[in-house]
Amino acid sequence: MNIILLGPPGAGKGTQAQKLVDDRNMVQLSTGDMLRAARTSGTEMGNKVAAVMDAGNLVTDEIVIGLIREQLEAGGDHGGFIFDGFPRTLAQADALNALMVEMGQNLGSAIELQVNDEILVERILGRAADAVAAGGTARADDNEESLKTRLMAYYKQTSPLIGYYHAKDKLKAVDGLAEIDAVQASIASVLDA
Ligand code: AMP
Repeated sequence: MNIILLGPPGAGKGTQAQKLVDDRNMVQLSTGDMLRAARTSGTEMGNKVAAVMDAGNLVTDEIVIGLIREQLEAGGDHGGFIFDGFPRTLAQADALNALMVEMGQNLGSAIELQVNDEILVERILGRAADAVAAGGTARADDNEESLKTRLMAYYKQTSPLIGYYHAKDKLKAVDGLAEIDAVQASIASVLDA
C-alpha cells in the first residue's frame, strides 16, 4: 500500500516514515531529502533550488514531480511507498494521481499528522540546536525566519490538500502531538484497518 504523510514542517513526517521503513519494509520518498542530496552533489538542479529552499519557499512542481517519477520508475520489491513532504500543492497531488495510474499503482490513505504551530516552532528550533550540539550543522532552513515562510507555504499551498484527500475519501487524521510511539501506533491502526 502506498501512503502520503501530510502535515506542516516539524509535524514528525520524517520520524514516522523511518518507523514505517523499519517495521513494514516500505520505501520513504522524501522530496526534501532528494533536494538536499541534489544540493550536496552540486547538480545543476541542486544549485538552482538551494536559495529557494533556504528561504523556505517551495521549489517548482516540475522539479519535484520529476524526482518522484524517477523513484517510482526505479520500482523494486517492497511494502509500498511513503510519500513524505510530497505532494505539497494541488498540482503535485494531481500529478501523483496520474503517476499512480500510469504505473498501475494504488494510493491508499493520506495520513494527516495534526499538530499546533507553537509546538512546531519549538521542535524545529530544537532540531537545529540538537544538530549543533551533536557537532553537526543545522539545516539551513531550520531558523526562525525561514520557518515562518515554510509555515506560510504550508497554509497557503499545502493545507488545501487536506480537503482534497477528504473529498477523495482518503484522509485519515492522527494526533501528531502524542509521543512518537503513540503516533506510530495510530498510523499502524490506519494501515491495518
Ligand atoms: P522538507 O525536508 O520536506 O521540510 O523540505 C525542505 C524544503 O525542500 C522545503 O521547504 C521546500 O523548499 C523543498 N521541498 C521539499 N518537498 C517539496 C515539494 N513537494 N514541493 C516543493 N518544494 C519542496
